[in-house]
Amino acid sequence: MKYINEERINNLLVDATKFDSRKIDAILNKAKLLKRLTLEESASLLAVDDLVYMQKIFSAASFVKDKIYGRRVVLFAPLYISNLCANNCLYCAFKADNSLIKRRALNPLEIIDQTEWLLGHGHKRILMVCGEDAPGGKANVDYYVEAVRAIYAAEVGKNKIKRVNVNCAPLNIDEFKKLKASGIGTYQLFQETYNHETYLRMHPKGPKSDPDNRIDAIDRAFTAGIDDIGIGALYGLYDYRFETLGLLSHVEHMEKKFKVGPHTISVPRIEPADGAELSFNPPYKITDEEFKKVVAVLRLSVPYTGIIISTRENPEMRDSLLSLGVSQVSAASRTSPGGYSDFDKEDTGGQFSLNDYRSLDEVIATLVKHDYIPSFCAACYRMERTGEVFMDMAKPGTIKGKCSINALVTFKEYLDDFASEPVRKSGYKMIERYFKQLDHLEQEKLKVLFAHVDSGVRDEYV
Ligand code: SAM
Ligand code: SF4
Repeated sequence: MKYINEERINNLLVDATKFDSRKIDAILNKAKLLKRLTLEESASLLAVDDLVYMQKIFSAASFVKDKIYGRRVVLFAPLYISNLCANNCLYCAFKADNSLIKRRALNPLEIIDQTEWLLGHGHKRILMVCGEDAPGGKANVDYYVEAVRAIYAAEVGKNKIKRVNVNCAPLNIDEFKKLKASGIGTYQLFQETYNHETYLRMHPKGPKSDPDNRIDAIDRAFTAGIDDIGIGALYGLYDYRFETLGLLSHVEHMEKKFKVGPHTISVPRIEPADGAELSFNPPYKITDEEFKKVVAVLRLSVPYTGIIISTRENPEMRDSLLSLGVSQVSAASRTSPGGYSDFDKEDTGGQFSLNDYRSLDEVIATLVKHDYIPSFCAACYRMERTGEVFMDMAKPGTIKGKCSINALVTFKEYLDDFASEPVRKSGYKMIERYFKQLDHLEQEKLKVLFAHVDSGVRDEYV
């Protein structure tokens, strides 16, 4: 596979098997200085299974998470617009050969309808997701652009969607330019597996069967001017250590060629998907402890990159991953096109089954209980703090002050408009507590923004 040196990864994994406590301590000390780790250092951390040292890795990851992101957690919801798909990924319910699901591509009015459901429950950030229609099919780039416009056009009261990130099939450079012009935030694409042989086996048919075209899509997106990029691996297809070093090699490639790493990394684990037999028994099932280690090692290796967790994980796992490095979570999700209309019914026809069915309000209640500030902020995107500019601010942690203010303002907007009574009460108390921790200047800025929100203005940020 292009850009991924499998031999180097395999050699690093072999070399890392000899446990050396002094070496691990030195790596953790370096990581706590918020320094990017080398591939070799990440490999050494991934090889650790000593319980005491696992705890050391976890507490170092918590330390780094706290230094860069503070207590903020960004919330979003996926919006599946189409399940038409020409590929046959062995793990996915949308695969072309699966006749168990109904195929559907939402039209702009249906997309507005779904978005208004999400807005009406308090969401402000959407990840637009779709299958990969056959070349010449109707779910093409023009359809994506129309869908993004529909999402931004939806409104409930004064609330509108602030940022649409997109997870769709690879495009060519001109198509990426069109997508960028529609106003997207992050373009997200998961390589699924960085092991060439596994990739070929898992993707037997359709445009996705070419691994180089897929990994090159990230470069094409950059070339087209999209500088907030999300990458990911689907855990369960191949050895988790290899996949994690694969992700980090991909980061190295991006940093070398474009001077900026990924904005986010996603770590989906394979979940059961109707009609996709492999998903019920993934070949390299990763345990919960191994999965926590992956998140912690990623947090330590690329401290400035956001880590995303979806509702594939159950509430308990999501809670523990937050302290290990996750900075963005989805909430109240459906993975079938049109799925929000029947939110109270079981989600059938989805891409895979979920493990967290809580409402947004319930997720927020738990975040507040654990002292995390729920954030719906999209200020960086609005202020064009993307790509290298964002990274330069994120790296030394200078963005933190702005983030705290923006998180508190967007949280207040949620509390005023959508929260249940108990969440409103505990939320306001939390805001009061965090307000006191800001310096005088920040407090003055926040007071002005709060007054605007009280007078009915929405979407305030610095
Ligand atoms: N169809 C496009 C593609 O494959 O890149 C874009 C979106 S696809 C719907 C989003 C992601 O869902 C895939 O990249 C894959 O990692 C993940 N996925 C597919 N099947 C899954 C399963 N059974 N469990 C968990 N995640 C799955
Ligand atoms: Fe289609 Fe994406 Fe599912 Fe593969 S993962 S079958 S490309 S929707």
